[in-house]
Amino acid sequence: MEAAVRGFEDRPAMDFLGRKTSYGELLSQIDRACRGLQDLGVGPGSQVGLCLPNCPYYVVAYYAALKAGATVVNFNPLYVEREMLALAQDSGISIMITLDNAEIFAKVSTLPGRTALEKVIVCPLSGALPMIKGFLHDILKSSNVARVPDSPVYMTWQCLLENDGAPDPVKLDPKTAVAVFQYTGGTTGLPKAAMLSHFNLVSNVIQSQDWFPEIRRGEERMLAVIPFFHVFAMTSAMNYGVSIGAELVLVPRFDAELVVRTIIRTRPTLFPAVPTVYSAILDVHERLKGDMSSLRFGMSGGAPLPVELKETFEQKTGCRLMEGYGLSETSPVACCNPFDGRPVKAGSVGLPVPGTTIEVRSPHDPEVIMPAGEKGEICIRGPQVMSGYWNRPEETHDSFVQGALRTGDVGYIDSEGYLFLVDRIKDVILCGGYNVYPRVIEEALYRHPAVAEAIVIGLPDDYRGEAPKAFVRLLPGTEASGEDILEFLKDHLNRIEIPREVEIRDDLPRTAVGKLSKRALREEEAALAREEERRRQKNA
Ligand code: AMP
Repeated sequence: MEAAVRGFEDRPAMDFLGRKTSYGELLSQIDRACRGLQDLGVGPGSQVGLCLPNCPYYVVAYYAALKAGATVVNFNPLYVEREMLALAQDSGISIMITLDNAEIFAKVSTLPGRTALEKVIVCPLSGALPMIKGFLHDILKSSNVARVPDSPVYMTWQCLLENDGAPDPVKLDPKTAVAVFQYTGGTTGLPKAAMLSHFNLVSNVIQSQDWFPEIRRGEERMLAVIPFFHVFAMTSAMNYGVSIGAELVLVPRFDAELVVRTIIRTRPTLFPAVPTVYSAILDVHERLKGDMSSLRFGMSGGAPLPVELKETFEQKTGCRLMEGYGLSETSPVACCNPFDGRPVKAGSVGLPVPGTTIEVRSPHDPEVIMPAGEKGEICIRGPQVMSGYWNRPEETHDSFVQGALRTGDVGYIDSEGYLFLVDRIKDVILCGGYNVYPRVIEEALYRHPAVAEAIVIGLPDDYRGEAPKAFVRLLPGTEASGEDILEFLKDHLNRIEIPREVEIRDDLPRTAVGKLSKRALREEEAALAREEERRRQKNA
C-alpha cells in the first residue's frame, strides 16, 4: 500500500462528509493503529473483526490489521446479535473494532465472554465527523452514543493510537497468509468464510488496473457508497481506489438523496455500485437535478444489470456504466465489460480479466466442459480464486472441480469468449418440466415503461411443480396494475414464463450491499403459505 501511494502523500485519501484526510495522514494513522494492535498481541494467525460502516476508521483499521499480519473479518453492522455471535464463534476473532453507536455496540458487547473476543476497540463517531454536526447526525441516525462500560475489555480508538507509530515489520508468505475472511452463503444455511490471501487480493487489484487503461493515477475520485464489508466494495472501491491514489469519498449509509448531493458536492469520477443503487439515484436525480457530469465510469456488479437501466443511466448522466461479474470467493472480479475498444455486448458481463479462465461445465457432469453457446455451470480459475473456506473441508472440496471454482451460476460463453449469465442454479424455476430463468422474466419486466425494479421467484405450484411470481416497484409518478403488466408480458415471454401473478410493492427488500433480495420474498411467501394452510386445517 505504501508503495502504491508514494508521491501522493499530500493528496486527499478520504473525504468523509466533508472531512478530508491526506494519504500522508492515512499512512501515519495506519502505522499507529498497527503498532497499537501489535502491542495487544495481534500478529500472523490473529483474527481482527471490523464492524464498521464506510468511514475513515474502516480504512485505517483494515490496512493496520493487514500490516500486522492478521486476518480481517468483515462484519456487517446491521447483523442481528445471533448473526454476530455465529460469525465471532466461527472466525475466532480476538479483537473487534467498532463504532460507539448505541445500536451496534449493544450487539457487539454481548460477544466477549461467549466467544474468543477479548478486546473491543471503540471508535467515536464524532471524532470522524467535521464540525457541522446537527445535519450529519440526522443523516447518520446516530445521536444515540453508546455508554461504554469501564472495563479492561474496552479500549478507545485514541488509546490504540497513542504510540510512536513504528510497527515491527512482519514477514508473510502472500500466497498462504489469509488477509480476509469474507463470509458468504448466508442464504443457504450458516455462512462460511472464503479465505482470501494477500496474493488473491493484490492480484485482483492488478487485474483491475490492467482492465482500466483510461484511469489517471492520482487524479480520480472514487465514490464509495457500497459497504466495504462486502467484497465488491472492499476490492473495487477501496483496494483498487487506493492503488491508483484516488480520493475515496466515503458514504456511511445508502440514502439516494445523500448520494446525489454527495456527487454534486464532491464531483467523483468513479462509481462502483450494485444496480439497485444506480436505479435509486436516477429516481432522485430526476427530482433534484444538479450536475452529475463529473462521473466518468460506473462499475456495476453483484447482481444483473438490466439492459434498460444501463441505457437510461448512461443517457441521463453521461457516465459510462460497465458491468463486472464475480463473487466473494474470487476476490471478487472475474469478468468485466472491456474498456479497451473491444465491443461491449448488451446483456453480457464481458470477458475474463487477465490471468482468469472461465469454463462452462455440464449441469449433469461437472467434469465435462460445454462448447461455446451452451449453458452450464460457470467455473473459474485465476490468481484471485480463494484457497477454500475456513474450517470447512467438505464445502471446500465440493466447491472445486478439477481445480476450478464452481460458482453455482448458470451461463454460457459465446464464440468470441464473452460471458452471458443466465441465473443462479438455485434460482432456476422448474416449471412443468421446463427450466424457467427468472432473469429472462425480469429483463422483460424492465422493458415495461412503468417498472423501476423487479424480482421474480419460483413458488410451489400444485399443477406445474413451481411457478414464477413477480414483484415490482413502479417508477415514481407512473401507474400500472399487476394485470396491465401481465398483459404486456404476453408479447415478450413464452407461455411457460408468464408469472402466476405480478405484485406491485412500494419497495422491494434488499441485502446489506443493496442487491434485491429473493430470499426475503421467499421467506414472506413461505410464511403466508403456512398461515393459509393453518387456516384451511382449522376450517376443515
Ligand atoms: P457475493 O459473493 O455476495 O458477491 O455474491 C456473488 C453472486 O452474485 C454471484 O455468484 C452471482 O450469482 C451474483 N452476481 C455477481 N455479479 C453479477 C452480475 N454482474 N450479474 C448477475 N449476477 C451477479
